Amino acid sequence: MSEERPLPEPDSEELFSLLGPSALRTLYGWLYRRRGDNAPTMAEVRLFMADALGEPQEHIDRRLRELRRYFDIPSVPTPPGNPRYPLRGWAANAPDSQNLAISSRVRAQVLAPQRCFQCGKTPKEDRVKLVVDHKVPQSWGGGNEQENLQPLCEECNAGKRDYFQTYDVHAESIRAAINYAEPQRRIGELLRAFDGDWVRTDLLGIVASAQEFQEDWQRRLRDLRFLGWEIEYQRRHYEGARVWTYYRVKKWRPWPASIRDAITAEERRRRSRERPSGA
Ligand SMILES: [Zn+2]
Repeated sequence: MSEERPLPEPDSEELFSLLGPSALRTLYGWLYRRRGDNAPTMAEVRLFMADALGEPQEHIDRRLRELRRYFDIPSVPTPPGNPRYPLRGWAANAPDSQNLAISSRVRAQVLAPQRCFQCGKTPKEDRVKLVVDHKVPQSWGGGNEQENLQPLCEECNAGKRDYFQTYDVHAESIRAAINYAEPQRRIGELLRAFDGDWVRTDLLGIVASAQEFQEDWQRRLRDLRFLGWEIEYQRRHYEGARVWTYYRVKKWRPWPASIRDAITAEERRRRSRERPSGA
């Protein structure tokens, strides 16, 4: 792969699927505009982080580290004591750079239904443009495998972006939750990460199905209750025409050695309580 890969535009789908959190993308966009001779100094980056992002200055190291997973942003020691940070290109070992580009064959397969999976509009009848959407954004650990891709119209795609941005502050927790093998644990860790805040049902569904599709992931909430968790829910009507359900955790329990065994044992205990012996 000797071909030079162009840097993504700050507003591009590629950058969104790569970075997700808007703070990172904002910082990238700024470094992108100031690449070349005009690269900002450490002091400027700090000021920008505080002004544009409202982030404490100590976050700068972490943000730069996150960006450097993907991009080559060396620290150039001029002037001394106040290094510059030029955005030079892709990092040599950018983790997703090789499979970031979805092959045209997979793209065609994903778009083949010719219908937005969210609103149902079609290019033919509604003149919408369809794009390939990552169900789980790459910045949350989602990959380019076909199961994680779906056709969305541009409008739904933009709406989803805005919605996901509201979860930026939780991006790292979501990324961590998504990686667990057991769906109960993915859901539980997500609820815990929100620390008593309400989590909308579609985010729970995405995280529940992140490793393998969960047809009936609400049952996994029941499983958590079997493990001693207390989970509340609430329906809200005021977001447009749609009624959303939200969940939050009131009390959580440490994970047993085997989640499946613990749930099975609890199921058996409850069943034997319902059917008195000797009947
Ligand atoms: Zn749509």
